Amino acid sequence: MAAGSIRFNPVLPVEKQESFAKISMGFYDHVALLFSENIFGTEADGYFFYNADTHGAQSPALTGFLTNVSGTPLTLADVGGNFARELEVAGRDAAIDFVRGELRRLFGTGVDRYIVGADFVPWGLDRWTRGAYASAEPGAYALRRVLRQPVGDRIWFAGEACSPAHWATVHGAHRTGQDAARDISRRLSGI
Ligand SMILES: Cc1cc2nc3c(=O)[nH]c(=O)nc-3n(C[C@H](O)[C@H](O)[C@H](O)COP(=O)(O)OP(=O)(O)OC[C@H]3O[C@@H](n4cnc5c(N)ncnc54)[C@H](O)[C@@H]3O)c2cc1C
Repeated sequence: MAAGSIRFNPVLPVEKQESFAKISMGFYDHVALLFSENIFGTEADGYFFYNADTHGAQSPALTGFLTNVSGTPLTLADVGGNFARELEVAGRDAAIDFVRGELRRLFGTGVDRYIVGADFVPWGLDRWTRGAYASAEPGAYALRRVLRQPVGDRIWFAGEACSPAHWATVHGAHRTGQDAARDISRRLSGI
């Protein structure tokens, strides 16, 4: 909505448009790595905190690794904000190279032989997602209520950004969908 790729005619109320603009998508990505063995020594779903050198940039570069996801040899390196945006533009190979470089700084060059696979999905550049999840600008929190309000009993809104308490999550998105469906059902049955 904030990108203007879905338009309404007649246009939606101004406050509704303001809610789109002020609760817009942010960048957050995983660089996924498949290891031949558990190099972190953590248990399943352990989190390995690590602050990569930002080289003076304000946005953190790499905040850590979700290791041994669900007991598998998969590990996810977390990048977000402006740095993630830059990595997305630089491309998949650059993103993987960046994380490999940080792992070498941590564990030495020998770490390469344990990496058996890697991938990176640029969620911000993907035209169907355009980011990871939405964030309200400072002072715009109250607009989440406006965001989830239906318009004229004809258009309903759902998704993580509309969630009153669980924004940025799958279950928040799921519940807003259920709420909207229930509301539509009530209106249609005249209850
Ligand atoms: C790297 C990453 C890690 C995450 N980790 C977690 C986590 O651990 N736990 C958690 O709960 N959440 C996590 N999230 C957040 C979670 O993925 C989102 O909050 C959730 O997917 C949002 O669901 P949604 O239904 O609101 O939006 P989406 O899942 O984005 O669904 C929107 C749908 O609309 C479709 N669409 C878009 N434009 C159009 C159009 N013009 N016409 C028709 N269809 C269109 C899209 O194809 C898509 O299917 C993570 C997100 C990212 C990116």
